[in-house]
Amino acid sequence: MRLRRCLIVPVVAAALAFPSAYAADIQQTRDGVTLTYQDQSGSTAADVRDRIIATFFATYPRQRHDFHPSAPSSVRIVMDPSYDGVAYVGEKEKSATITINPRWLVKHPNDTDLVTHEGMHIVQGYPGYASEQAPSWLVEGIADYARDQYGVANAAGGWALPTQIKPEHKVDSGYRVTGAFLKWGEAAHPGLVKALDSALRSGSYTPALWKEHTGEDLSALWKDYAGRQ
Ligand SMILES: [Zn+2]
Repeated sequence: MRLRRCLIVPVVAAALAFPSAYAADIQQTRDGVTLTYQDQSGSTAADVRDRIIATFFATYPRQRHDFHPSAPSSVRIVMDPSYDGVAYVGEKEKSATITINPRWLVKHPNDTDLVTHEGMHIVQGYPGYASEQAPSWLVEGIADYARDQYGVANAAGGWALPTQIKPEHKVDSGYRVTGAFLKWGEAAHPGLVKALDSALRSGSYTPALWKEHTGEDLSALWKDYAGRQ
C-alpha cells in the first residue's frame, strides 16, 4: 500500500552518494515481534536507522496487540534506493515487509513515524485493497488514525491530523483527512475504528456498518463532523 502523498522522484537522487559498504542485516526481537532490518547499500545514517527501529518496536507490537494479535510476528524493514515512492508494505521472501525509499529519509529524517503508518498496514492484513470490501480511503484513513494514536514523534516530523476542515476535504479523501474524521468518530462512538477494522479484515465491511455502529449513515456522519467547526 503505497503512500500516495509523495510519489515525486527526487531529481537529486542520482547525485546522492550512497556508501557502498555492505551493511549487515540487523535482527532484534521484542514483545514477541522479530524485526529484520536490511540496508544492503548502507544508505541510511545510523541515527536514522536506530530511530526507525525504535519507532517500529514502540508502535507495531501495540498496534498488533490492540487490533490483530495474530498479525505477523516477523517483519522486515528494507531500505531500497531503487524504490521511487516513500514507503509501502508487501511480502518479500514470505515476510511482511516495509520497503522504504532512503532518499525520503535523507530529506525528511524526522518522518520516522512513517513506519507506524506502514506497520498498521501489516496489522490490518485485509484481504483486498481499493475494493468495495476494503476501500482505499478507509484503509489509508485507519493507517493515519493509527499513526496519530500510536506514533512517537509525529510533531517532530511535522506531521499532524488536520484540525480544520477545508472545502476540498471529503470523507473519502483518505489519509489524514479521513484519519481526523475517524478520530472524531471514535470519540463520539467508542469502538467504531475497531469495528471497521475487524469488518475490513473479515471481508464483511459494507457502508451499512456506519449506521449500525453510530446510528447515522456515512454522509450524515460526515456532515455532523464538518458542521461542528
Ligand atoms: Zn498507507
